[in-house]
Amino acid sequence: MRIAIIGSGYVGLVSGACLADFGHEVTCIDKVHSKIDALRAGRMPIFEPGLEHLVERNVAAGQLTFSTELAKPASEADVVFIAVGTPSRRGDGHADLSYVYGAAREIAGALCGFTVVAIKSTVPVGTGDEVDRIIRSVNPAADFAVVSNPEFLREGAAIDDFKRPDRIVVGLAGDERARDAMAEVYRPLYLNKPPLIFTGRRTSELIKYAANAFLALKITFINEIADLCENVGANVQDVARGIGLDNRIGPKFLHAGPGYGGSCFPKDTSALVRTAQDSNAPLRLVETAVAVNDQRKRTIVRKVVSACGGNVRGKTIAILGLTFKPNTDDMREAPSLSIIQALIDLGAQVRAFDPEGMTQARTLLDSSVSYAEGPYECAEGAEALVIVTEWNQFRALDFGRLRRAMSSAVMVDLRNIYKREEILKHGFRYVNVGEGAAA
Ligand code: NAD
Repeated sequence: MRIAIIGSGYVGLVSGACLADFGHEVTCIDKVHSKIDALRAGRMPIFEPGLEHLVERNVAAGQLTFSTELAKPASEADVVFIAVGTPSRRGDGHADLSYVYGAAREIAGALCGFTVVAIKSTVPVGTGDEVDRIIRSVNPAADFAVVSNPEFLREGAAIDDFKRPDRIVVGLAGDERARDAMAEVYRPLYLNKPPLIFTGRRTSELIKYAANAFLALKITFINEIADLCENVGANVQDVARGIGLDNRIGPKFLHAGPGYGGSCFPKDTSALVRTAQDSNAPLRLVETAVAVNDQRKRTIVRKVVSACGGNVRGKTIAILGLTFKPNTDDMREAPSLSIIQALIDLGAQVRAFDPEGMTQARTLLDSSVSYAEGPYECAEGAEALVIVTEWNQFRALDFGRLRRAMSSAVMVDLRNIYKREEILKHGFRYVNVGEGAAA
């Protein structure tokens, strides 16, 4: 099949490369010329494990091309995917749909022959109807069907998630030709037998938000249980294991930490809350999770302050990990942003290290933050070392070397990647999440 993908970011580029790998002929399009120039030169505009190799292979095979212009690839495509960003709209928390609607207008003028327009961006219920209306009003003669095909990949494991999804959801609005086309797009995956769920377009749009909101609730739940554990002398990791082994609950998303962040959960929970309020069916659990999580990203800093004897003014605090999770360079809504700002507000000097996130971080963090070349340089002269993101390279640090580098041996492990006994052996003071004193 011929496929055009509008938007070559974390979702568009990974989807495009994987679909090309399935044997489709794919063009990935982006308005940002520097991204397309980089891709044409074989450089990845984002960090995603395995992506460079996958792109290189499919470009060499002639399956994958890049363009800044959508007219030609969209006119030749059987399916045009919209994979542009849907950030939070400033002020009210609704999803900003201007990129989606802009793409719809551009696609409308280019359509030629029957074409499926598949919305992969995460969009509120009813967006498919509006995209349909926009295309029809710009090009009344166009023969097309708008479907919803939300994406569930996770950054850091995106290729594997795309190629081995738990499920593929396609929301239709009555055109059977669209069902056949979408079944054909994903046919190469049938060998792995992921459930292909066909449903209504509005239902499909809601499935994506409901999934993300549910996961955000699960994280927020275990974070609150962690606080309770600290106050009553229990251990949240054992609680998580104890409940997670129940099949009805499951072990995933039960890791207590500094609160969820990233490019999806914060904006998607807030957009869902707004949709629900506007539809007279408020989602009070999700509203509360959003508020609890926002609060947590700053209050977690108290752990650092108390570990430093109640005051961080004038002290150097070393931060290990800036991205919202490991194996990505994505800094959007990363907990590190609020944590570092709160430390600066309290008078601390912050030095940070992240294996992939420092380029993006420099554009987002206060200019007083300094950056190190590695974990040990980061720890030099620091009063405390704070693990914010659980990159693998922070899991086996040399504590002797750290102790010699630091002015005081304090570790705050916001991801619970170490065992208390192990750290104490090295003479460190150790503060983690959800481990009460008598645990
Ligand atoms: P992104 O910001 O990385 O990429 C979006 C790209 O679209 C940008 O490169 C931008 O330049 C381009 N763009 C915008 N308007 C355009 C236009 N008219 N023509 C061509 N290019 C245009 O965003 P992302 O993280 O890939 O997310 C895209 C969508 O997928 C969002 O709705 C997001 O919620 C959803 N999603 C993201 C993830 C994730 O892990 N990042 C996972 C599932 C779903």
